[in-house]
Amino acid sequence: MCPEPGRGGQAVTAPVRGFALALLLSVRAFGDVQVQAEAAIPDSSSPWGPLLILDQTVAPGSKSAFLLTEDRDFDSSFVNSSVWVVRGASEGPALCLTAGIHGDEINGVEIARRVFSSLDPDKVSGTVVILPMINLAGIRSGERYMADRRDLNRLFPGRRDGSLASIVAAGVFKLVTKHCRALIDLHTGSFSRLNAPQIRVSLNRPGALDMARHFGSGVVVLGNGPTGSLRREASEAGIDAIIYEAAGPHRFDAEAAQVGADGVRSVMAWMGMTKMPVKTIPFNSIFRRTYWERVPLRGGGFFFPEVEIGARVQPGDQLGTIHAPGTDVETPIIARRAGTVIGMAVPQIVLSGYALFNIGIEGSDVFPGLLLQESSDPTAPEVDG
Ligand SMILES: [Zn+2]
Repeated sequence: MCPEPGRGGQAVTAPVRGFALALLLSVRAFGDVQVQAEAAIPDSSSPWGPLLILDQTVAPGSKSAFLLTEDRDFDSSFVNSSVWVVRGASEGPALCLTAGIHGDEINGVEIARRVFSSLDPDKVSGTVVILPMINLAGIRSGERYMADRRDLNRLFPGRRDGSLASIVAAGVFKLVTKHCRALIDLHTGSFSRLNAPQIRVSLNRPGALDMARHFGSGVVVLGNGPTGSLRREASEAGIDAIIYEAAGPHRFDAEAAQVGADGVRSVMAWMGMTKMPVKTIPFNSIFRRTYWERVPLRGGGFFFPEVEIGARVQPGDQLGTIHAPGTDVETPIIARRAGTVIGMAVPQIVLSGYALFNIGIEGSDVFPGLLLQESSDPTAPEVDG
């Protein structure tokens, strides 16, 4: 029988506790190095110089790829994911890109790679810090959750003395909050659904809202995000943070990756970090609220949609049909409110209550300056997925 953790010095003999402790030491190690590095970071009044991050020095006009920690502990493989840094040749803002918080969402990982690979540091003003594969074990195995079965994106800002996922969250959060003014967290949509490429952002930070608009493609959905998500917690820590997600999990979608990488580049140009073109999402693609049309009670069966992503619908419009296999009865799925289809289930067998169509209700009335309280469906299945 395992001894209870934390009692009478038995922690080192308890496998689970020992596992967490070793990780803690790994994270503490890079945390301590970072403290040293922070002291050496020039403040805004200092001349632009090398960036000291973790135990690395990245010179102006250069790129660097290294690991979060070089530890060789048995379990450090959970925290030694990649860190990529672009230190621009000239002074400018600091942008963080995070990806792979959910291990099955590999399109965000590929977006991060494309951005890093394509940036010429001599043509960048400022710094880009990229954490492309945060849930490294999950990415290797295709699993959304961390090795301890927890959702990393509900555990920020994390705790160094918490669970495995919480320890990783603490390390990531510290890096992001110390080094970045703005954050783009890259995700992928859900299995068995199609989503318009979408950016989610809180109404509370006008700078983040502007940043979301200048992603340039897809739609913007307003909302604070769930407690413990990196976007929400970073926002509350004073960082302009948005989340982007597109396409489905487990496979690369070249078009979604291209749209995402172009969007990040557009945000960078808008922030003054490059001289590339800036794109802007129109006001009528900003949605203040969303709601779901679901399978009615006892309405399950074979589902076929009859509209496409991006369709504008009116109350009473038929969105799709479910055929009940036992009775051959057809159940039409009818829109209750006007809006735009921004997400939908693919043709499949569905059961009562399954979310079929995500309808966005335009939020153009929040501009300019008139900020309304957001009101989103708390039961929506994909919130910062
Ligand atoms: Zn996700």
